[in-house]
Amino acid sequence: MQLTRRIHLVGSGVWGFGLSHASDCHVYLVDGGTEAALIDTGAGVDDAAILALIDASGISRERIRHAFVSHAHADHAGGAAGLREALGLTVHAAPEVAEILETGDEAKASVPVGRAQGTYTPDYVYRAVDRVERTRDGSRVRIGSLEIETVATPGHAAGHNAYLLHREGGADLFTGDTLLFGGMIILQSSWDCDLHAHLDSLRRLATHAHDGFFPGHLTFSVTDGARHVRAAVEAIERGGIPRTLF
Ligand SMILES: [Zn+2]
Repeated sequence: MQLTRRIHLVGSGVWGFGLSHASDCHVYLVDGGTEAALIDTGAGVDDAAILALIDASGISRERIRHAFVSHAHADHAGGAAGLREALGLTVHAAPEVAEILETGDEAKASVPVGRAQGTYTPDYVYRAVDRVERTRDGSRVRIGSLEIETVATPGHAAGHNAYLLHREGGADLFTGDTLLFGGMIILQSSWDCDLHAHLDSLRRLATHAHDGFFPGHLTFSVTDGARHVRAAVEAIERGGIPRTLF
């Protein structure tokens, strides 16, 4: 499904639009012309559904060289191993997340929490990724005519990254689970959820100008996406915390 000139949606589960497996987060495909990249990879239960949506986008598989993973939770990262194999991707994530992915550490990825919530079935397998490139805050990777900048946003989970897509005429922000539509956040009883780090990350997002707002779940905004960041920061400035999903 094409969302903008440069952005397609090629995966989305029950907390989205039901395009692919129910466990999948939004999986975005950004098109830089000669090259393309995925942002998040879904849960890995049904990679074939995501590959079919990639094919339907008209972007050839050969052009897709990179995947940027927001955090280690299985709905975002569980598909990295299978899609890397299918497409020959370089997978990028923060150092803390890379460690979890390379070891396939289900406990550190909070898969048991997801099972308890019913997001993953009891037989779900979190597959390890052979090799993951470590991102740094502010580092940029060129994708054809585009650049993807890492914005470190720990809090929802250890090593969470947002990604800022720099394109002709502006920028679009991919927030993973750091921020959803309307300024809503996701706090969980997982080992690495850190409220104060999360609030700091929301303040930092407000320093990065962007137009489009593309979170990991629920709906998105093609224009005026910064209003969602403003809503969260205003809640913090009033001495509260932003609304939470659960
Ligand atoms: Zn998450």
